[in-house]
Amino acid sequence: MKEHDALLTILKMAKEHPLFDPDLFEKRDYTGLSDIGGDVADWTYIAMMADDALHQSPIGPKAAEAGAIGVEAGAIKADVIDGGKMSDTPIKTVAEKIAAQNQYQIEKHLPNFAPSDGICYRCRRQIYGRISFEKASTELITGCPLCYQSYCD
Ligand SMILES: [Zn+2]
Repeated sequence: MKEHDALLTILKMAKEHPLFDPDLFEKRDYTGLSDIGGDVADWTYIAMMADDALHQSPIGPKAAEAGAIGVEAGAIKADVIDGGKMSDTPIKTVAEKIAAQNQYQIEKHLPNFAPSDGICYRCRRQIYGRISFEKASTELITGCPLCYQSYCD
């Protein structure tokens, strides 16, 4: 069966790749994959996909022609996006957290310490990536959670 051989080759190639992560592969850790991203996620994901396809009920030539493999891959990819942090749309979430922090400051009559765009003055990283929506709505942010620069000095 040609598809089977192709999948075996793909699986072998992906598993032998230096960026393949055996731990994430064994655990089928899609969330971990989307956290890591980049080539490690790509190669490990390819291996998972090939391995899953190989362990399914035999894919007949007709099913393969009908795009069964493609459909399956699409379903897995949707899982990665929904289950991982990718569904946590960064721009929207950051904007929401900034709004929550501003709202909290206004309600409590507190000074505004956190950078208005969320980008740390010192390390130039997005602080709201490390601050939960809950924290942004209930606590005054006075420093960077990444480089620990204080914003109230
Ligand atoms: Zn910082």
